[in-house]
Amino acid sequence: MSGAKPQVTVARSLASGKGSRVDATRRHNLSTILTAVHHRPGMSRAELTRQSGLNRSTVGALVAELTDLGLVREVAPAEHSSRGRPSPHVYPRADVTVLAINPDTDAVTIGLVGLGGTVHERMRHEWSAPPTVEQTIEVVADAYRALAASMSDDTVLLGAGVAVPGLVRSDDSFVVRAPHLDWTNEPLGEKLSRALGVPVVVRNDARVATVAETVFGAGRGVSDLVYLNGSRSGIGGGAVIDGLTLRGRDGFGGEFGHTAVAGGREQCHCGRRGCLETEVSLERLLEPLGLANVDLVDLDDEIARNAADPKVRAEIQRQLGVLANAVGNAISIFNPDTVVLGGFLGSLYAAAPAVLDAAVQKDSFAPISDGIRIERAQLGSRVHLVGAAELGFLPLLRDPASYAKVTAASSMRSVTDATSA
Ligand SMILES: [Zn+2]
Repeated sequence: MSGAKPQVTVARSLASGKGSRVDATRRHNLSTILTAVHHRPGMSRAELTRQSGLNRSTVGALVAELTDLGLVREVAPAEHSSRGRPSPHVYPRADVTVLAINPDTDAVTIGLVGLGGTVHERMRHEWSAPPTVEQTIEVVADAYRALAASMSDDTVLLGAGVAVPGLVRSDDSFVVRAPHLDWTNEPLGEKLSRALGVPVVVRNDARVATVAETVFGAGRGVSDLVYLNGSRSGIGGGAVIDGLTLRGRDGFGGEFGHTAVAGGREQCHCGRRGCLETEVSLERLLEPLGLANVDLVDLDDEIARNAADPKVRAEIQRQLGVLANAVGNAISIFNPDTVVLGGFLGSLYAAAPAVLDAAVQKDSFAPISDGIRIERAQLGSRVHLVGAAELGFLPLLRDPASYAKVTAASSMRSVTDATSA
């Protein structure tokens, strides 16, 4: 490997409680302001003051400190009213980034995501067969080098986040089982961190998508939400309860695909019969469409083109009926405000929203399902990258003051050194 590769600034976290005289309240307030700006780029200082409940001069000082840390920038409003002083708008520094990775059976998608959820780069490496962990790491390391070469000098990397279709133990980013990739007991976080030389966090893909939709998509501002995602590898999901993401003992909570649905008979790969993901599946939807495979961004068009075909309509109605059963169960268990449907489930819903809405009302326990909002996911093909990046942003958002000024030359580290070691 050539030693002439450009360098990437890797942010350095100071040991907790050391190297900073910032008091606990101030650290907490810095976290509040940076998180608000990350979730809603361009808020004015006046809005930040209102939302945080802090006073105006405190917010001004906190924004100044975050600016000094290289995490936000202020922009004067384009025009302002004659009343009072103009309130500057605060933007997160989109060049503070996380490497986001989503391996799946057909491709590994890699992107560089900035604060504020900006996807700077997106690379898709397609596979003819599900990749091994070692193949995935090799492709990611190559992509990392290519991205590093195209980054500006100001770009800072906090670490990497990975969204995996499978059971991931959250304590140590250990993939217990990813059936469609055929990965079992893989210390993916540890291996990838060693290869890239940056901190790596690995989680289930549907769970990170739940977070992404809650922060930037259809669930923005919702504290109780159920998310169901359908992909080639089945149905996954997640729940947010009282603003907290459902985790479970090992971090496996939210496997909606492997809950039984009424009338389900088919054998599932998990060993049970009648699981949601055997009854509602992309494969079974593609059959009447006459397709072997589809890029999900084209699925709406494929359905629209065949909307008059009775076989297509019947299959959509059947799948929506089964999905309504699962959605009704989720409503009874979690009492959400909103149910978000992503991936091919979003296309199914968009094809006949009234069918699902009516079936959910009919199938659900009325007092709980009254006024429930069913929404299609909004982030589309960006959802897993944006969600995986949140994993890498979390330590910074929790305690911005614990990071050294992220552009400090002393924290420079060569990506070539890190990956060729
Ligand atoms: Zn199953």
